[in-house]
Amino acid sequence: MVGSKRFFIRLCTVILLFSCLSAWSEEAAPNAATATAVTVESINSPIVNPKRVYSYSVMSRDLKALAARYPELIKLGSAGTSEYGRELWTADLGRGPAVILIMGSHHAREWITTITAMMQLETMARQYEQGSVVYGSYRAKDLLDRVTIRFVPMVNPDGVALQQSGLAALPPDTHASLIQMNGGSRNFKRWKANGKGIDLNRSYPADWDDIQNPASGPAYMNYKGKKPLQAKEAQAVYDLTLASVPELAVAYHSSGEIVYWNYKTDPANLKRDKAIASAYSAMTGYRLFAPLANPSGGGFTDWFIQEFGRPALTPELGRGAGPSHVPLAEWDRIWKQHKDTVWMLAKEGYSLWLSRQTVAELNEEVRLTETVQGYRYPDLGSRLIAKLDPGRYEALRQKGDWVEISSPKGAVWVSSLHTLVGPFERLDGMAVAIGPDTEAYRSPAGAQPAAAKLEAQTAAGLERWQDWLLIRAVEGIFWIKEPFEPSTAVEPADM
Ligand SMILES: [Zn+2]
Repeated sequence: MVGSKRFFIRLCTVILLFSCLSAWSEEAAPNAATATAVTVESINSPIVNPKRVYSYSVMSRDLKALAARYPELIKLGSAGTSEYGRELWTADLGRGPAVILIMGSHHAREWITTITAMMQLETMARQYEQGSVVYGSYRAKDLLDRVTIRFVPMVNPDGVALQQSGLAALPPDTHASLIQMNGGSRNFKRWKANGKGIDLNRSYPADWDDIQNPASGPAYMNYKGKKPLQAKEAQAVYDLTLASVPELAVAYHSSGEIVYWNYKTDPANLKRDKAIASAYSAMTGYRLFAPLANPSGGGFTDWFIQEFGRPALTPELGRGAGPSHVPLAEWDRIWKQHKDTVWMLAKEGYSLWLSRQTVAELNEEVRLTETVQGYRYPDLGSRLIAKLDPGRYEALRQKGDWVEISSPKGAVWVSSLHTLVGPFERLDGMAVAIGPDTEAYRSPAGAQPAAAKLEAQTAAGLERWQDWLLIRAVEGIFWIKEPFEPSTAVEPADM
């Protein structure tokens, strides 16, 4: 029985892997200890400071700190690395099946868009934790249990580092050519391209051959490369997007307070896409950019709209800033406009996803693993019928991430996130030998961290579901993962 715990899968090691990732040169990530140290004071203090020059290294540190503070809600990942080895961080907020994609800093000098994405990430996680009501009548938890918001806060970290820190941001053997790409200047404040002089928002395969006003070679802006997706960063975003299949996408740029939403949009999608863009416009005051007869392509949202036939927005944040970054003095205005927009987009993204799901019969037993809300219809906007306690229920139908169950108050719809679909095997108190430090869970649904470590003991088995056991231990009722060893089978004869 001693050896049983080493078989247990540890579900929460993924985040730790990322703390080993490092980046090039002076922008290397800070050590993990500073990122994860949680003091009483820091529990309530914000992590992201929007009123500073927001660099790649600050962002990397903040992302790790956010993932450490909200381990059940924020998962870090990577879309790849930049041309000079910086991590193209992704941060997933929420745990729903509908994905929406939010990106900042395709263009180097537009890093106020990274601040925007990072502030949205932190603020929404805090609202979830505080049980806030958002965007009218939605609970933050209800939306983030149904939607995953995939942030890529800085698509172009080499370019951002060059714009903020100058030549020191990139290897010495590149400096002469960077100065040349910058028209002979050592002042890189106007830089938009990546570290190799490719304009990432002219890199995507949407009418790429016909992009207007191209630069003839690598330059601080407008050079599209020799072929689509030549830049590592564009290829990484392209691959991530195909793998994510988002319901909708936003690529933040600056500046001008307008929003692009149409690129040769299929007439069948015009009304839908314009409604979402108009909702965005109403929240921010940004003007919808009228579609051109002959638009120039190559941009991320140009490609996304064509590839998926789904909505995408390119908002230009901040009032006109000229050929440089948007000044931080503009931040309060941008934040006031944007702090709630992703809630609206999450709600829209979820509606798009749910509209494609069909209702299926589900004549099976289910177990609710925690107290859940029961709705009249599979729709967050429908009437709340009952709060339902954990336990076994009869399931009737399923639609997307909703399950209809038979309850004492009649048929109600609940989230599938806290619902295990049978069959279940009753164990009738069968003795289960537990090894020392056995990881025990409140629920096997989702990748939750262990709720407790159990002492070595003989527990009572209540129920088996897939490779999980529900047991009554001295510490309480928990789920543990097989393999377990029935005590009758492991008592050595010579003891
Ligand atoms: Zn831009």
